[in-house]
Amino acid sequence: MFEQLKEQPADKILALMAAYREDPRDDKIDLGVGVYKDAEGKTPIMRAIKAAEKQLWEAEETKSYTGLAGDPGFADAMVSLVLGDAVARGSVAAAATPGGTGAVRQAFDLIKMANPNARVFVSDPTWPNHLSILKHMNIEHVPYRYFDAETGGVNFDGMMADLANVKAGDVVLLHGCCHNPTGANLTLPQWQEVVDLLNKTGAVPMIDIAYQGFGDGLEADAAATRLVASSCPEVLIAASCSKNFGIYRERTGLLMAVSSDPAKFKVNQGTLSYLNRQNFSFPPDHGARLVTMVLNDPALRADWEAELEEVRLGMLRLRQALADELRTLSGSDRFGFLAQHRGMFSRLGVGPDKVEAMREKHGIYMVGDSRMNIAGLNDMTIPKLAKAIIDVGC
Ligand code: PMP
Repeated sequence: MFEQLKEQPADKILALMAAYREDPRDDKIDLGVGVYKDAEGKTPIMRAIKAAEKQLWEAEETKSYTGLAGDPGFADAMVSLVLGDAVARGSVAAAATPGGTGAVRQAFDLIKMANPNARVFVSDPTWPNHLSILKHMNIEHVPYRYFDAETGGVNFDGMMADLANVKAGDVVLLHGCCHNPTGANLTLPQWQEVVDLLNKTGAVPMIDIAYQGFGDGLEADAAATRLVASSCPEVLIAASCSKNFGIYRERTGLLMAVSSDPAKFKVNQGTLSYLNRQNFSFPPDHGARLVTMVLNDPALRADWEAELEEVRLGMLRLRQALADELRTLSGSDRFGFLAQHRGMFSRLGVGPDKVEAMREKHGIYMVGDSRMNIAGLNDMTIPKLAKAIIDVGC
C-alpha cells in the first residue's frame, strides 16, 4: 500500500525557516513564519494565559472528555467575542476545533456535505493552507482578484467583477480582518457592497478570522464579520485563538454556523458535532478552557486586552517606522501602503527575484510572494530592511 504514496511538496514557509536556521550570518532577519514575536524575537505566553493556567492547575479535577462540540462555555465566550450582539446566540451553532485550521477544515467538510457541487471562491492571494486543504478535499476553488501590487491595496473593482460570477450555493471565503498574506483590507462600505452581492446571488460567505485584535482593535476587527453575520441568511465563521491569545500549540479554534432561520439551529449544531466525531471526536480542551477563563474573568480579561493592545500598537509603530524609513531612502511615498496595512503581515508586492536577492545579499528571509511578518522587525532591523529593499531595486 505505502508504495502508492508520493512525496508531498514541502511547506514553503517551513522550508524557509530551515534555511534561516542554517544561515550563519549574525545579522540575518527572519520575516517568514506567521508567529508573533516581541522585540527580543520571543513568542511570549501572555500574562493572563499564564495566570489562568496556574488557576486551572489548582482547580481542575478531571481530564475526562468534554462534549463533542467542546465545552459550551467556550463557544458562548467566543461567539460573544467575535459576534458581540450582532445576532441572537440561538442562531449560532458552534463547535470547538483543533485551531483555526481545524475550523476551516470542518467548514469545508460541512460545505461538501451540504452541497457537493459548491465551488469555493478564494482571494488571490490567500493563506496557502486554504488552497492546499481545498485541493486535498477535491473541492473546486475559484480565485477572485484581491491584491493590487501597484498600490499595495485591494483591487476592489477586480474583486467585485470576479465575484459577480458566483452562483447560488457557492461559497465565498473572506478574511474577517488582517488579510493574510497581503495585510490589505476592505473598508466597511466595501464589505457592505460584498454583502449586497452575496445576498443578490445566494452565495454563502465563509469568514476566516485569525487575527482579531491585531489590526484596529478587538471590536473594530470584528466589525466586518458582524456585518456579514447580521446581513446574510447563512454564514460560516472559522475563528482562531492561536494569535490573539498566543496559544499556538494548544490548538484552539471555533467553527460557527450562523443561520437566520431559528429552525435550523438543531440540525446545524448536530452537524458540527457529527463532523467533529468523524474527524477527531472530542476537540482539544486545554486552550479552550484558558480562553474561556480569560474572557469570563474581568481582571484576567482586562489584562489580556491590555497586553493584546500593546502587541497591536507595537506592530503599528513598526509599520510606520518602516514606511518612514523607506520614504527617506526612496524620496517617495510609494511604500506608504505599509503603514496602511493591518495585522501581522504585509505583502511588498515584488517578484521572487527581488525576494531572493534580499535573502542572498542581505540575509533577509521573507516568503517568496514577498510577504513580511512585521512582528519579526525591531528598531534595530528596520533601517537594514529598508536599505535592502531599496538596494535590490524594489
Ligand atoms: N487562517 C489564517 C488566515 C491564518 O493565517 C491562520 C494561521 N496561520 C489560521 C487560519 C489558523 O491558524 P491555527 O490553526 O494555528 O489556529
